[in-house]
Amino acid sequence: MPKKIEDKKVRVRFAPSPTGPLHVGGSRSALFNYLFAKKNKGKFILRIEDTDLQRSEQRWTDEILEELKWLGIEWDEGPDIGGDFGPYKQTQRLDIYEKYLKELLGNNKAYYCFCAEEELEAKRQEQMSRGLAPKYDGACAHLSAEAVQKNLADGKSSVIRFRVENKKIKFTDLIRQEVEFDAGLLGDIVIAKNLRTPLYHFAVVVDDFLMQISHVIRGEEHLSNTPRQILLQEALGFYQPIYAHLPLMLNMDKSKMSKRQGDVALSDYHSKGYLPEAMVNFMVLLGWNPGTEKEIFTLQQLIKEFSIEKVQKAGAVFNLQRLDFLNGFYIREKPIEKLTELCIPYLKESGLLVEGQSSEHKLEKIVEVSRTRMKKLSEISELADLFFPDKLIYDKDLLKWQKMGDNDIKDSLVFSEKILSAIKKWDIKNLEKELFAGSEKFNLEKGYPEKNKGYLLWPLRVALSGKSFSPSPFEIADILGREKTLERINRAKELLNK
Ligand code: GLU
Repeated sequence: MPKKIEDKKVRVRFAPSPTGPLHVGGSRSALFNYLFAKKNKGKFILRIEDTDLQRSEQRWTDEILEELKWLGIEWDEGPDIGGDFGPYKQTQRLDIYEKYLKELLGNNKAYYCFCAEEELEAKRQEQMSRGLAPKYDGACAHLSAEAVQKNLADGKSSVIRFRVENKKIKFTDLIRQEVEFDAGLLGDIVIAKNLRTPLYHFAVVVDDFLMQISHVIRGEEHLSNTPRQILLQEALGFYQPIYAHLPLMLNMDKSKMSKRQGDVALSDYHSKGYLPEAMVNFMVLLGWNPGTEKEIFTLQQLIKEFSIEKVQKAGAVFNLQRLDFLNGFYIREKPIEKLTELCIPYLKESGLLVEGQSSEHKLEKIVEVSRTRMKKLSEISELADLFFPDKLIYDKDLLKWQKMGDNDIKDSLVFSEKILSAIKKWDIKNLEKELFAGSEKFNLEKGYPEKNKGYLLWPLRVALSGKSFSPSPFEIADILGREKTLERINRAKELLNK
């Protein structure tokens, strides 16, 4: 029976392989581990699994650390800050793995295999053609010690295989409950290319043990790895951590989400202008259900409310509309100075903002009137571009309200111009008050329906924005100031003369 670790303190880990950008699925695993650790007053460890030398790159490690920090997920031990169980990068732990590989070879629980890849492939094909699941046939499982020594001395290429016992593996998963696998189907598995090059299953088992990991919380794609890892734990005399496999992420049509599809990298969401608060809130709902209608959760609230028992088994649908909704919510909640700061890079990137051109105060107002319609920060440029150009480009037909002719529109603009020229206190309240009053007067003079404000305000709004949708003319005029406002009205009049 595997040893259990019931009495251990909670220590969990996020163990990404730095072979590509951090995906939303990976970030979700990190988040669930983090929440579980915090909730249980345990420790959250970040371990970089970089044993795949060909595919691992430092830049991905950097990105993983950076994006986790952006989310607000902090680790207690990790490659950058160290800890009592380090090092936290697998390539810095090769001596440790070598020691345990030698132990398994020494007690004959693992052996050198000299089968050539082509040979193995041919056997796999042959097994499949007979309708069998491919598995290693054990050709090298019983070579004599002399034969092994000779092959090694001759420099024959080899790998290290672990003897997989033919038995049933059962474990209790916190999410999936009782899980059973038939290890007999596995065949002897490769655990290292050589003494200095361990593979995933082996390194993960050694590290989880030495780092005293109490719970392994990870994506469901690792579920089938678990029996292999349990067998290795047994062979090495290690305790067995408690497992929790998080549900798969599904597309809206319930198909499985793959890494190759669209935006799965967290950095894509980051650069599009999703806020970390929204990402955290969105990701926690990918599998966890509070059991109430409540949908908005901050990281701090989650630390209190999260429980792994409430994570569902069924796939979690990645609903982008929900993410947009949450992001819009957090955008509206942000203090305006902070939101403005976050929008500035987007305004610069789109060329709207040139250093030193708009006073900060004005920018804040621009962001304030835009944020109600913003789902992500990158949309600021499209929503706010009307505040920046010297000359708006738009079709004069846009100035038209209902059945107004060109001369009526001109009258309307002249009317607004008069009101605006005379306004003493140029602020939003006053602008609104004067223009509303003006609208009634204008309608009366022209014989338009009394309550229809469009006759005065639509041509003005279009003259100031150049768009069919925009903030109100008061908001725009307030931001533009008198001079620019009158300039834009003049330009609209010119357009009508053409
Ligand atoms: N390094 C593995 C991966 O990135 C995860 C290992 C684990 O969580 O057991 O997929």
